[in-house]
Amino acid sequence: SIVVTGATGHLGRHVVEQLLEKVPAEQITAVVRDEAKAADFAARGVRLAVADYNAPETFGSLFASGDRVLLISGNEFDKGRPAQHQVVIDAAKAAGVALLAYTSAPGSLSAALADDHRATEAALIASGLPYTLLRNGWYHENYTEQLAPVLEHNAVVAAAGEGRVSSASRADYAAAAVAVLTGEGHENATYELGGDEAWSFAEYAAELSRQTGKEIAYNAVPGEVLTGILTGAGLPEPFATILVGVDASIEKGELVVTSGDLSRLAGRPTTPLAEAITAALKG
Ligand code: NDP
Repeated sequence: SIVVTGATGHLGRHVVEQLLEKVPAEQITAVVRDEAKAADFAARGVRLAVADYNAPETFGSLFASGDRVLLISGNEFDKGRPAQHQVVIDAAKAAGVALLAYTSAPGSLSAALADDHRATEAALIASGLPYTLLRNGWYHENYTEQLAPVLEHNAVVAAAGEGRVSSASRADYAAAAVAVLTGEGHENATYELGGDEAWSFAEYAAELSRQTGKEIAYNAVPGEVLTGILTGAGLPEPFATILVGVDASIEKGELVVTSGDLSRLAGRPTTPLAEAITAALKG
């Protein structure tokens, strides 16, 4: 089987959808916490397995020898993600899976956000399993799903100076994962994944202006100011600090990816940011 964890998350849904275009549904197992969220997959013949990274026993007999597994990194930042991911690695090792692919972060990313990914990569390599590191860059959707305050204030606010980001759509990263899960020769490979074109926040604001007909400016602020804005908007302080750390990394160029791995694996150019903006504005 091809087994996908986090299958009811945003990225996981794209992965399962794209797998369904390539392999018979009964060869796909979606690992979910809540079966009800995956009723649409089940109706199409995808097998479901219910498991939680916080409950090792739920992964006990989930994998079978020869499975190809995609471990989608969790989103519970406060629960110790390396230990959660270790649960999946241990179960995959015990079963003898053929491949364990992991959605990581760019190797150049020094922000605190990357720590969990570096720890998981090390654990995966130490396991001795055949692995693939899908070092996903930033999603377009991190920005295009946050347009309401931008359109309200006619300003893109970031603490990233003139830094650039090679973002791509979740669907693009999913295509790379599907290529690895259904293809050959990806054992023990590390892919640095990002969009074909890097953009600056000034360019992002200019594109938003062009598409909306409004004058939207880029307001570059210091990190402390952004932390204040984010916590003021209700974000918990630790999460705000993580996001501001990412902006600092962007300013240093750490989210620029030049490998070409993403479009090569996907077999097509990555989705342009302008296209993602258009889709988001249509709602
Ligand atoms: P989502 O938040 O949409 O999905 C996270 C998935 O992880 C969900 O399916 C969720 O399950 C699952 N999950 C969380 N905790 C557990 C747990 N304890 N046990 C089992 N499953 C769990 O994120 P995306 O799909 O958009 O992105 C995938 C991952 O990529 C994120 O989790 C995060 O690690 C990382 N990320 C990357 C970004 C980037 O720009 N590259 C941006 C943001 C996140 P459920 O569906 O039940 O909630």
